[in-house]
Amino acid sequence: MDGQIIISHCGGKSAEVDDSNERALIDDQFKDDNPVRCMLNNWQYKQPIVMIMGSKCPTSPTKMPHRYQVLDWFMITHAWTEPDPFSGHVRFKYRFEKVGLQESSWWAPQGMPGKNEEYLPAVAIEERECATCNKKSPRIYEEGFLCIHSTCQQFWKLDGQSAAHNLHYTQQFLRARHPVPPNYVVPSPLAPSIDGLLLDRNAELGNAHRDFWKGIVCPACGNCCARTSWKGWVCTCGYSREVGFHVTYTASQLREPHRDRYVGAPIPAINNRYNIPVKVETNGATTIVRYDLGPAVGTVIHVQNSDELNKKLGMDELLQRYQDPELPFKRGQVTTMCGTSYTRNFALNCGAAYHYVVDQDTVKMEDAPVVVQNVLSMLNEQVGKLCPGHRDFNEVLSLAYLEDMRMNYHTDDEVGLGPVVASLSLGAPARMGFRFRAGWKQNKLCHFPGLDVDDVKSGIPQFSVTLNHGDLLIMDGAGIQRYWEHSLTRVEGLFRIAATGRYIDPDTHEAASRPFGPTPAQRMAITSPKSETTVPTGEAQSTYMEDFFTHLHSIPKKEKSRRKSAVPTASATS
Ligand SMILES: [Zn+2]
Ligand SMILES: [Zn+2]
Repeated sequence: MDGQIIISHCGGKSAEVDDSNERALIDDQFKDDNPVRCMLNNWQYKQPIVMIMGSKCPTSPTKMPHRYQVLDWFMITHAWTEPDPFSGHVRFKYRFEKVGLQESSWWAPQGMPGKNEEYLPAVAIEERECATCNKKSPRIYEEGFLCIHSTCQQFWKLDGQSAAHNLHYTQQFLRARHPVPPNYVVPSPLAPSIDGLLLDRNAELGNAHRDFWKGIVCPACGNCCARTSWKGWVCTCGYSREVGFHVTYTASQLREPHRDRYVGAPIPAINNRYNIPVKVETNGATTIVRYDLGPAVGTVIHVQNSDELNKKLGMDELLQRYQDPELPFKRGQVTTMCGTSYTRNFALNCGAAYHYVVDQDTVKMEDAPVVVQNVLSMLNEQVGKLCPGHRDFNEVLSLAYLEDMRMNYHTDDEVGLGPVVASLSLGAPARMGFRFRAGWKQNKLCHFPGLDVDDVKSGIPQFSVTLNHGDLLIMDGAGIQRYWEHSLTRVEGLFRIAATGRYIDPDTHEAASRPFGPTPAQRMAITSPKSETTVPTGEAQSTYMEDFFTHLHSIPKKEKSRRKSAVPTASATS
C-alpha cells in the first residue's frame, strides 16, 4: 500500500499455518461467499467504501498510532483471482484506489504518492486477451501476463508453467490512477459534526435515540469516542459533550400502542409449543403466570398488573426517576479479540458486588440512589409474597436500554448467587427468550414434565415472555441458571429499565474484580490536511470486468450438491 493505493485480499476461510505467523486458505473462496459478494458488488456497482487499518498491518507505510484508524474513502478498481501461495486454494484479491486524490493522505510518509503529486494521471492498466479462453485479464505482475480466470486452463500460468508466487506488481499497476466516476461522490464526511443532527434528534425524539448512544468523532482531537457515560461523551483528550436530557419519557409514551389498557387483570400472551406445565392465576388486577421447568430446575414467574395498579405501586414514578441525568449509569467494559469494547446497555450496580458478564463498579446500598433503594424494597416485598422462604435481596443491577439495544443469551450463573433472581421492567416492552444451555439433551434433570425431547429445535428460544412496563419476572430456582439461558431481544421503543434483584453471598462470591488485562487504545485518528493537486480525468476504467463476472470462481455443480447433502437438514436433527 501507499498513500493512494491498497492491494489486499479478504473474505475469510484462512487459518494459521502450523505455528508460523503466516495464514493460508483452508478452502477456495467462491463468488457466492458473502464477503466476496460484498466486495464484488462494491466493484461492480461502484460503491465507495471506507478503509480502516489495524496497527498490525505488515505493509503499512508508516507506524500506525492506534490499534485501528480510519484511512479514507476508496473505490475498487480491480478484482481478480489467484492461487494462495501456501495451499493453492483460489482467493480473490482487490486493488483499492483513494477517491479524493486531491486530499493529502495522513498515513503516507514524505515522498510517497498521496503526500504529493507523484502519480501518473489517467493511466489505465494494460489488458490483454488470453489465447486459450479469449477473456481479458489486466497486467498485474512484472513477470508477465497471467490469465486471472480460474476456469481457464491457463489460469495463473506463465509459458505453460504455474507462475511462482513471489511476483512483483508492475509500476503501472501500482502507479495508475483512475478518474473518479460521477457516482463516486464521497457520500458523507468521515468525521460528521455532532451538532446539527443531534440537536434535531434531541428535540424530536429525546436522548434515547440510537444517535445518542453511538460514538462520536471528538471535534477536539479526532478520536472516535464511544458513549460510556450516562451524561454524554467523554474523550481521553479531555473534551466532553453532554447529551442533554430534554425529554423525560412517560410510561404511556413508551407502551406498545396496540396493547389493551387493562383495568382488571391483564390477559397474558403464552407461547407454549413445548408443553411446559403453565399455571395462570389472577388476583384482583394482577395476573401471575408460572412456567414449571421441573423440580430440579425451578419456576419462571411472570407477574403483570393493570395500568392503574402499576401507577398505584409507583412504577410510573420509578420510570421517571431512572431518567435522572445524575445517576451513575455506565457502560461496562469488555475485552474482545479486537480490543476494548462496551456492553450496549448502561449499568448501575448497587449493594453487593456482582461480577455479571463484565465487571461493574458497585455503589453501596446505603449510598445508592433513592430510586434503586425503592426498587429493592418493592422487589423484596413482592417476591416475598410469591416465593416462600425468599431471602431478602442485597443487590440490584439496574440496566438502561436505549433504542435498539438488546442482550444476547447468557445466564446469571455466578458463585454465591441465591436461587431467586427477580427483574422489574419499566418503560418500553421487550421480549425475553429462554432456551436450553448446551448439553441439556443428555441431562434428564433439566427436562420439564411434558417435554418431547425430539421436538426441540436448538438455538431458538423454547419459550419467551413479553415484558411490559411494571412487569415482574422471577426466576425461582438455581437450576434455571444452570440449565437454561435467557436473552433480551431488541427493545421495542426508546427507553427501558430492567432492575434485577439478587441475593449474593459475600463469602462465596469472589470480592475481587476480574482483571481486564491491558486495555489497548481502540481509538481511531482522523486528520485530512488538504494539499492542492489535480484529479485525473477522462475514460480509463478497466474493461475486463465483464469477462471476469461471466466466469467467476464458483462452487462446481457436483461439489455444490455434495456440500448441500453434507449439511444436516432441520428435519434430520430434530
Ligand atoms: Zn485464459
Ligand atoms: Zn478528543
